[in-house]
Amino acid sequence: MKRCDLLTLYKSLYEFFGPQHWWPAQSKFEVCIGAILTQNTAWRNVEKAIANLKKANKLSLEGILSLSEKELAKLIRSAGYYNQKAKKLKAFCSYIKENYEGSLEKFFSKSIHELREELLSLHGIGSETADSIILYAADKPSFVVDAYTERIIERFCNLRFNSRDELKKFFESKLPKDVKLYNEYHALLVALGKHFCRKKPLCLECPINKKCYHYKNNVKA
Ligand code: SF4
Repeated sequence: MKRCDLLTLYKSLYEFFGPQHWWPAQSKFEVCIGAILTQNTAWRNVEKAIANLKKANKLSLEGILSLSEKELAKLIRSAGYYNQKAKKLKAFCSYIKENYEGSLEKFFSKSIHELREELLSLHGIGSETADSIILYAADKPSFVVDAYTERIIERFCNLRFNSRDELKKFFESKLPKDVKLYNEYHALLVALGKHFCRKKPLCLECPINKKCYHYKNNVKA
């Protein structure tokens, strides 16, 4: 495998982990809400918050806007940073209501570049959240880069990037612009990062260790 062949890495991960079925949500709106709630917390905590919103019949743009920040914070408490996240959810919903008549369809008809610019201009939405919304809710090919992606590429390929945006460009320049591929690839990197390529990596058990720079140069005897 030549240095950092991203398609070969993808195939190896897919062979081992299989399809990841992301994003676990019943609607595009739920994806957006989940993408904001999952900042700095584990997904299981987000699931509880989303279940609470559903139970209260508030998992909709109008539902969220009908709540005060305090009421919303109470419903999403399990997701952590609930006061800030309540503000972020309301900012997102208000923006869609004021600029797109409350229609995600209208919002998502914009180009990837426009969507990204607009999302990044909103309170509390950074590049990982913006790209998750573009990829998993708008179904447009914007590669999602997170801490796992950085760590894996640094170790697996021995490559470091100055910023996540640079790493995102690297992925997008090496891969076909394909929503399904980007969808699965990010999910597979998360699976590898969670199960093997942790802060303290489990290299001996890792399914792709034979192709990994870090393993070959630092672990293997
Ligand atoms: S071999 Fe180790 S460093 Fe390489 S990808 Fe696997 S867990 Fe990460």
